[in-house]
Amino acid sequence: MTFSIVLANNPSAYTGPGTNTYVLEFGGQVVVIDPGPIMPDHIDNVAAAIGEREVGGVLVTHHHPDHAPAAESLADRFTAPVFAMDPVPRFKAKRLISDEMDIEIGGEVLTCIHSPGHTNDSVTFVRDGVGFIGDVLMGESTVIIEDLTAYLDTLERLSALGLDALYPGHGPVIEQPRARLHEVIEHRLARNDQIVSAIETGADTVEAIRALVYPGLNPALHIAAEGSVRTHLSYLMDEGTVPNRNW
Ligand SMILES: [Zn+2]
Repeated sequence: MTFSIVLANNPSAYTGPGTNTYVLEFGGQVVVIDPGPIMPDHIDNVAAAIGEREVGGVLVTHHHPDHAPAAESLADRFTAPVFAMDPVPRFKAKRLISDEMDIEIGGEVLTCIHSPGHTNDSVTFVRDGVGFIGDVLMGESTVIIEDLTAYLDTLERLSALGLDALYPGHGPVIEQPRARLHEVIEHRLARNDQIVSAIETGADTVEAIRALVYPGLNPALHIAAEGSVRTHLSYLMDEGTVPNRNW
């Protein structure tokens, strides 16, 4: 397998330097992973990276607007099917991905690993000791998590695969996957402990917990931090560590 990366020009607080679109080649055929947003220049750059090669599929790691929307337009242009776990109105997945499904391209196989947590429909594509992980991890910052229980399970599962490198949807390659995955697991568990301590010292609203756990945070990031606190609270309530109530 060889591949190239086409960076979309959509940098932001949530997308880092922009979305990485991956063009992988197997035996003369290519697949595109995360076609990205509908930006004509980006789609042209991806088409240029594909060149004259046949496209076996356009693969989507998850439905978010910085990853999936260009899927249909690229698939139409190259007469290729879109593969995704969960079809949503922004694009039409012709092949639905299931956990451990193998996608055959150019006589070789790319394996799909369901990787929920950031979103429920997140998928990692694995081949040759390399994982293309979408937003499971970012190259250089933390990601938004919808379901912390599922997310921690996903990180453990990816660690157990013993991969050599992870290629994220944003930012640079992660070259020591096991160390990085465990660092993120530890970070999340430490955050749980901080939230439990904040509650023990009397914080009884999400805002009060956020103020204790993220002291001096830029006010522009308060909403995002409170979202993270809510995700952790829901995990802690499921676990029974924090009493069930409407936070
Ligand atoms: Zn995302």
